Amino acid sequence: MAPRRTVAVIGGSGVGGILGDEPRQHRLATPWGAPSGPIEEGRLGELRVLFLSRHGPGHTIPPHRVNYRANVDALRELGAEAIVTVSSVGSLREELAPGSFVLPSQFVDLTRQRPTTFFDGGKVYHVSMADPFCGELSAAAAEAGRRAGAPFAEGRTYVCVEGPRFSTRAESAYFRGFADVIGMTLVPEVTLARERGICYVCLAMVTDYDVWAEKPVDASEIVATMTKNVARMRRVLAGLLPSLAREPGCSCARALDQAGI
Ligand SMILES: [Zn+2]
Repeated sequence: MAPRRTVAVIGGSGVGGILGDEPRQHRLATPWGAPSGPIEEGRLGELRVLFLSRHGPGHTIPPHRVNYRANVDALRELGAEAIVTVSSVGSLREELAPGSFVLPSQFVDLTRQRPTTFFDGGKVYHVSMADPFCGELSAAAAEAGRRAGAPFAEGRTYVCVEGPRFSTRAESAYFRGFADVIGMTLVPEVTLARERGICYVCLAMVTDYDVWAEKPVDASEIVATMTKNVARMRRVLAGLLPSLAREPGCSCARALDQAGI
């Protein structure tokens, strides 16, 4: 296979502007509607880098209203072979304090009302999700974190909830039985990327303890932690993205080979 030439970043809150002041912008439609906003394009050496703000310009689209299919499809249309996402999460573990960086390796999907597949009829596909994240991207991200002095807690489980509300105390206690961090945006982004044969990794930043810790969640506190983390996350991305311009050693691009009925 040829080296990767195009890599996309989907940013949650806070990491816009990684491609400089006036990047080229793509506005496109997909069979699933419009993506969250214009897709920016820039360059890092030989690598084309695309950037999409998940919640749209001005952060106006809540997690349950993001058009995940349009976002992933538009990035694929523009040539994305890998997607790196930056997402804020709540912590379900004492040791994952606000400010921690986490690399999930598994997820539990508790979303309720989102279209979760590109294959809604016609040919039927069941893609494998045993290992939902690209192993190669995960290893590269872990290395980039260490080099940037912002090591990731690896091998954690992300529970994805519908939102946009936060958890009840009972829910939070329940989630602690099987997950380490909680968020609202991973699914179905990760599954759609797999269906399109795109490598995918989630760089999660802990912004707060979920309600189990009896430290009430406050949206302004989350924004303050995000702001502090953005500079560190930019350093991680600056190390990670160029390292992806190599021949893929993973099987993500062949996800559909054995999945069709
Ligand atoms: Zn991969």
